Amino acid sequence: MRIARLLLCLLTLAVFSCNGKQIPTKQEKELIAQIEQIFCVKQQLADKYWPEFNDEKYSVPIIFFAGSTCYVVNPEADFLRAFRCKQIKTDKFQLYKTRRLDSRPYIMETQVNLSSYTSTYAGKTPYAMCSVWSETQKTYSVEIMDEAVWMASVIHELVHGCQVSHPWFNLAQHKTDYSVSDMELTSYPSRYPWLCDALIEENDYLLSAISADDESEMKVFLRKFLSCRKERKNRMKAEFGEALVRNEEQYETDESLARFMELQTAIMLNTENPVYAEGSFYFCNNVQEDYQFITGYNLVRLFLKMGIDLDLPYNSVLLRSLDSYINID
Ligand SMILES: [Zn+2]
Repeated sequence: MRIARLLLCLLTLAVFSCNGKQIPTKQEKELIAQIEQIFCVKQQLADKYWPEFNDEKYSVPIIFFAGSTCYVVNPEADFLRAFRCKQIKTDKFQLYKTRRLDSRPYIMETQVNLSSYTSTYAGKTPYAMCSVWSETQKTYSVEIMDEAVWMASVIHELVHGCQVSHPWFNLAQHKTDYSVSDMELTSYPSRYPWLCDALIEENDYLLSAISADDESEMKVFLRKFLSCRKERKNRMKAEFGEALVRNEEQYETDESLARFMELQTAIMLNTENPVYAEGSFYFCNNVQEDYQFITGYNLVRLFLKMGIDLDLPYNSVLLRSLDSYINID
């Protein structure tokens, strides 16, 4: 009995460190190493492109889904009050585990409740929600989603978290009257051939401006891009209503930097997926399928070329389209 009690005591000491934090298991150590790598990439992307991306006040907690467990990185106090959590011993960030909070087999999204100020999880705080790599592999083959692309997808969600943590941008989202979902909007070019043709022409001018050798050549293409875009949006307003165009502008702003940072991450981590390459059709040209993602991604590349601050669209009191930041006079 005494030996059993001693063994139990030793076992307890092995599982818990002195301050009550749980010693991570082998799988948890793998997740911790992956999170450290994701945060390292985030820092590098912030240094190179968008300093606000690694600013603590714009960084959101992350919930990783793994089997019957959720691992929560840097949760808010509200979350810890709402759910029974155990803290895991880590060095560089806070990590807690709790029960699984969503039964969907694959999750990769940033959740923020736009209809009220109480989100599903805790108050106004957005949470990035991501399946762990081992669960992602059950949904996607490794040719589509290798570990680098999975990390890039997490970064994509962290970009959304950073965007929506900007108070004015958050307010603009709350004020947007969503008449169409982002996924439904991506189907419009295949439903309306005139729109598809107009988007191909518009995007081609944008690509030409990005690859132009000098400023005057770039401006020629940009004028064509802006005039095509204006004409196309006017026809969309007439045929589908003003609100739909406002939705497009909001979605384009959302996905622009998310897509850009996603691609940079996958390249940085040496993905095997050939789609993740600078200038690939999937990211630059595929307006037939993901048009607001494509034009948004290309507009980020134009912003970089023109030296436009990538944080500007998230500090506007009013929702402004990305093209409104292009000044060529
Ligand atoms: Zn997105």
